[in-house]
Amino acid sequence: MNRYSDPGASLLDYSTHFVVHCPKCASKAIINTQGHLVCTACAHVEQPGHWYGEATAYVSVKCRECHAQLRRSTPWIGPWKKLAMHCENCGDRCEYDASITQHHLHQGRMTDRVFGLPLWLQKEFRDELFWAYNYEHLEALRSYIAAKLRERGFNPYTNTIRKNSTMISRLPVFIKKAGNRKDLLKLIAYLSEK
Ligand SMILES: [Zn+2]
Ligand SMILES: [Zn+2]
Repeated sequence: MNRYSDPGASLLDYSTHFVVHCPKCASKAIINTQGHLVCTACAHVEQPGHWYGEATAYVSVKCRECHAQLRRSTPWIGPWKKLAMHCENCGDRCEYDASITQHHLHQGRMTDRVFGLPLWLQKEFRDELFWAYNYEHLEALRSYIAAKLRERGFNPYTNTIRKNSTMISRLPVFIKKAGNRKDLLKLIAYLSEK
């Protein structure tokens, strides 16, 4: 019997550690649960702090001189967190603190949440992107896809909040499609050997 029981884990539960491309040599690097990166090839070690991924800096303030509303949004390249603003109403120029939004995708590739480095376990699947944070996440996806029957491992009536927030329940359609199952399993087999 090839049953699948959703363990009820959310995507966040799988994002405790990551397998990524090393920022120095692009080989396989591990980010552990403390957020420390260690490369398996060049022995590069890095503490959290630098964001390699994509990010946006955003400012929305009232001009300090004339109180006109100022807004500006621009791609962010660290480490500065201020944006130079020019008020078109009164001509004042000033730097304001920006709020930074870090994006999960960078140049079409999924990244980890600590450094924004491209995940090691990802590959295009037709027009979609298949990815996993680490080998445990990959294995959870494999056993889900391999299963012919799917059932949730908990009572949907008593657990309504978790119901729609588990990693499995939020998977994109192409992963859930029965027609993609065989090819996805091939792709996962390839990734698990990486
Ligand atoms: Zn390296
Ligand atoms: Zn102004």
